Amino acid sequence: MTLINKGTAYWQSLDRAHHWHPFTDTKGLNQAGARVMTKGEGVYLWDSEGNKILDGMSGLWCVALGYGNEELIEAATQQMRDLAFYNTFFKTTHPPAAELAQKIAEVTPEGLNRIFFSSSGSEANDTVVRMVRHFWVLEGKPEKNWIIGRKNGYHGSTLVGASLGGMGPMHAQGGPMLANVAHINQPYWYGDDSGLTEDDFGIVRARELEAKILELGADKVAAFIAEPIQGAGGVIIPPATYWPEIQRICQKYDVLIIADEVICGFGRTGQWFGSHTLGIQPDLMPMAKGLSSGYLPLSAVAVGDRVANTLIEKGGEFYHGYTYSGHPVSAAVALAAIRIMQRDRIVDRVRDDIGPYFQQQLRTLADHPLVGRIDGIGLIAGIALVENKTPKTFFKDGDAVGLACRDHCFNNGLIMRAVGSRMVLAPPLIISRAEVDELVAKVRHCFDLTARDVG
Ligand code: PLP
Repeated sequence: MTLINKGTAYWQSLDRAHHWHPFTDTKGLNQAGARVMTKGEGVYLWDSEGNKILDGMSGLWCVALGYGNEELIEAATQQMRDLAFYNTFFKTTHPPAAELAQKIAEVTPEGLNRIFFSSSGSEANDTVVRMVRHFWVLEGKPEKNWIIGRKNGYHGSTLVGASLGGMGPMHAQGGPMLANVAHINQPYWYGDDSGLTEDDFGIVRARELEAKILELGADKVAAFIAEPIQGAGGVIIPPATYWPEIQRICQKYDVLIIADEVICGFGRTGQWFGSHTLGIQPDLMPMAKGLSSGYLPLSAVAVGDRVANTLIEKGGEFYHGYTYSGHPVSAAVALAAIRIMQRDRIVDRVRDDIGPYFQQQLRTLADHPLVGRIDGIGLIAGIALVENKTPKTFFKDGDAVGLACRDHCFNNGLIMRAVGSRMVLAPPLIISRAEVDELVAKVRHCFDLTARDVG
C-alpha cells in the first residue's frame, strides 16, 4: 500500500525510464504513460487513480477464477513454506508436480497421459517441436520434420513460437525464423469474400492443409499445429466442417495434430478443452494460462500415448527441460485451481449456464450499426466491427477503429481487446449474470462512442 501511495506519476516515471513492455511501441507509450494497475478482486481491477474496471479479458485470457481467490493464495503460501523450489531433473519429483500431472491427465482427452511442464505457452510450444521432430527420428523418418501452422495463428513469441505462428509483423522482426515451418490460410469465413457457404468454406480451407502436405511431400511433414479456436487472431471459430476434415487429412498422411490449448483449455469453451468442444483428437496439447488461473507462470504439454511411448521406450534421455519445469509453487496453485473447478463444477456452469447467457446477451448487440457479426462459445467471443453491414464493408483502417474502441472501453471501465477491427472478450469463468449484464451494457456504450468517432 505504501508503494501505491507514491502515486501514478511516480510509477510512470520509473516505468518510462526502465521498463521495457512486451508488444509495445515504447516511444509512444512513454509519451502517454502506462496505466498503473494496483488491485484485483473477482472480475474487477482497480488502477492507481482509483478507477474500477471490469476485466473482460481475464488479464490476458488467463485469470479464469478471477482475482483475489483466497484458496489459490493459500495454496501458494503453504507450498512456499513447505518447499519453495526444487527441480525435477535429477531423479527427483515433489507432491505438487506428481499430483498435477495426474490431474491434467484426468481432464484431458483420452489417450494423453504424459505431462511435460514448463512456464509459458511459448516454452510449451518449443517443447512440442523438439518432441515431434525427435519422435519422427526415432520412428526412422528423420526427414519428416516440417511443421505446418496457419497464417494469423499465435503460438508464442520465442523464436520457435513466433515461427509456428503466422503473424506477419512478428516474422518481419528478428528473423530468419525457424526452418521447415509452413503456413496455410486461417478458416475465417466472415473475413473472406469467397462466396461459399460456411460449411463449404471450412472444407476448402482444411484442404489447403492437404495441398500443402502434398506440395512438401507427406514423408516430410511431421505435424500440423493450430488453436482449436484462434484466440489472438481475433477469436476465429472455424466452420463446423473444418476440424473433421483436418482430422481426416492428418490421419491419411500420418501427420501429428498439435492442438494449442493455451487459450481454449480449462473450461473457456464450456468443456475442459477446446479439443473436446471441436471434436479434435490431438497427439500433443500445449496448455498454459487457465491451468494456473494466471496466478503463477505455468504451462504444460500433454503428450499422447503414441508419441510418448516412442520417446520413452526408444529415446533414452530427452535432452530438454527448464529450471522451472513443474515448479512446486506454480504446480500447487494449478492443482488447487483444477480442484476448485471440479468442486464448483465451473466447466459445467460455463457450458450450461453462464456461457449461454453471455452469448445470448452479447447477441443483443447485433442491432448496433457497427456490429457485423458476433462469434462465440462458452466465455469467449469476437465481434466484427464493420463500416456497413449489407453489403458487408470492412473499415479501411480497421486497426484504428479497433484501437479507438479499445480506448473507449478502457476509459469507461471495461477491458476489451482489439484485433484489427474485431473486438474480443474472454471474461473470468466466475463472472455472474449481473456482471455479464454490466459488461454488455458497457460494450454497447463504447460501441456508441466509437460510432460517433467514425460517423
Ligand atoms: N499459444 C497460444 C494459443 C497463445 O494464445 C499464447 C499466448 O497468448 C501462447 C501460445 C504463448 O503463451 P505465452 O505468452 O505464455 O508464452
